[in-house]
Amino acid sequence: MSLNFLDFRTRQRDYLLSIAQAMVSRLNLRAVLRLIIEASVEMLQGQVGLIALHDPKDGFSFSASYGLPPALVDAFEPLVMGLPPVESPQNFDLPDMSEKLREIAQETGLLLRQVVALPMFVEQDFLGVIFVFRSHSLLFSPDDRQILRSFADYAAIAVNNARLYESAVTERRRLDALLEASADGIMVLRPDLTVERFNQALVSLTGWPMADALNQAHDEVITWARQNSPATLAQAVTQGWPTREGRALYVEGDLRRRNGSVVSVGITYAPLMTAKGGVLNIIGIVRDITRFREADVLKDRFISVVSHELKTPVAIIKGYAETLSRPAARRNAQLQEEMLGAITEEADRLARLVDDLLDVSRLQAGGLPFRDVDDVDLRLIAQRVCERYRPQAQNHTLRLDFPDDFPIIRGDPQRLEQALDNFVSNALKYSPRGGEVVIRGEATPAEVVLSVSDQGVGIPLDEQEKIFERFYRVEGPETRAASGAGLGLYLTRAIIKAHGGRCWVQSRPGQGSTFYAALPRETALALLPMVLLPED
Ligand code: ADP
Repeated sequence: MSLNFLDFRTRQRDYLLSIAQAMVSRLNLRAVLRLIIEASVEMLQGQVGLIALHDPKDGFSFSASYGLPPALVDAFEPLVMGLPPVESPQNFDLPDMSEKLREIAQETGLLLRQVVALPMFVEQDFLGVIFVFRSHSLLFSPDDRQILRSFADYAAIAVNNARLYESAVTERRRLDALLEASADGIMVLRPDLTVERFNQALVSLTGWPMADALNQAHDEVITWARQNSPATLAQAVTQGWPTREGRALYVEGDLRRRNGSVVSVGITYAPLMTAKGGVLNIIGIVRDITRFREADVLKDRFISVVSHELKTPVAIIKGYAETLSRPAARRNAQLQEEMLGAITEEADRLARLVDDLLDVSRLQAGGLPFRDVDDVDLRLIAQRVCERYRPQAQNHTLRLDFPDDFPIIRGDPQRLEQALDNFVSNALKYSPRGGEVVIRGEATPAEVVLSVSDQGVGIPLDEQEKIFERFYRVEGPETRAASGAGLGLYLTRAIIKAHGGRCWVQSRPGQGSTFYAALPRETALALLPMVLLPED
């Protein structure tokens, strides 16, 4: 049956129209390809049609057929197997397939005499081949090819669209996964600064459940308790930000969580612009900077405390050394002795500071080595510390209070002496008006508890934990008058912890303090690593 030319053109136009409709209305690639192959076969007056799609990774696979029982599709594989690599629409040259066609016809029992095949390209991307077979021997004409060309082009566009859609979906899923897995809080804002997306990390950071945060105004969710950047997002937007893509805005400060508590964060707002320069979205990346802030505070404390602690002894040593270099001072033996004594004392203080700093840095780096582990008689250690301080403690009464049967424990004697020494030197330093300092030892079935009490300035309740931090010193005239770098208690607690013990203080401002160190009687030191562990 042959169609007259007009009918033929009308049919072709109708087919192309319905293919175009199918392409815009459906994303079902297979259905579109089926329609295309059906149209191709019919318009070319063939009997059988096949579309083989090509994937650079997986090679060819048949995606649509017409006039062919599905079971027979695989029999056509030799056709695509033998295809030469296809690099561009221009150099596609179909090899002679008549031999293969004969074999396939034989295997399938189908009458297949002629085949025409055209590649499907979108620009330089080769997407597959469309085949039409005839059972009669009429050769395919250039016109036939021309018609098939238009169908192949449609098929190529449909395949390309489907692949683009698929990669857009994959891309979106990848983005979703990235958003959700990110440890930083991420939000996507609309141009009117309402929240379009809000990831899990931001839920944890702000305390805003995702459902509540979505569609809220940015300023409802991000409220600053303190903000130390030139402008907030809203202020920057009022001033004309963003002017172009890539110009990010950084805002840092203390964010008020939904429950009222605060957290230090830094937010980077990155605008996503349209081609015309409008704002498409603003991406906000919220980072918890509490640790940086703490590190900053620590660094400031370190610099102020250590520089002060270095300056004082160096100034004293220099002053005395200069005086001693004068002939007048050399003639006065007593003065000389006093000054040399003071120089030695200040040099010792510097050496202690350096030792403490080294210990702190070792502790930070992973641990302080135990110097040696032995039987330790804490009573003896307490006596030794007492003797050491008695000469300089004229205003104080130093008293030991230990039961006779005070137990021996296992530990590092030098480190434990360092700990007790810190307690006692603090008790003296921070009771400038003197009073009694008692070093007490008590034993319970499980623990020995050492305590050092004084009648000094005491410590405000809200600072009783902080004084165990590195470089922390209570602000006040009494502390300022006493030298110190704020490391003693930090190291003491680390030493006691490494022995499996605990360290704490009880104090009342103006009335005195008692520092405690409880150590297990049976320290399984063999089980502990041979280091003093840093804080939990
Ligand atoms: P330092 O004495 O070198 O400053 P510490 O770590 O030993 O460092 O002590 C930290 C802070 O704790 C001190 O600066 C002081 O403010 C406070 N403190 C420690 N011991 C006492 C005490 N017995 N009485 C009052 N305040 C104390």
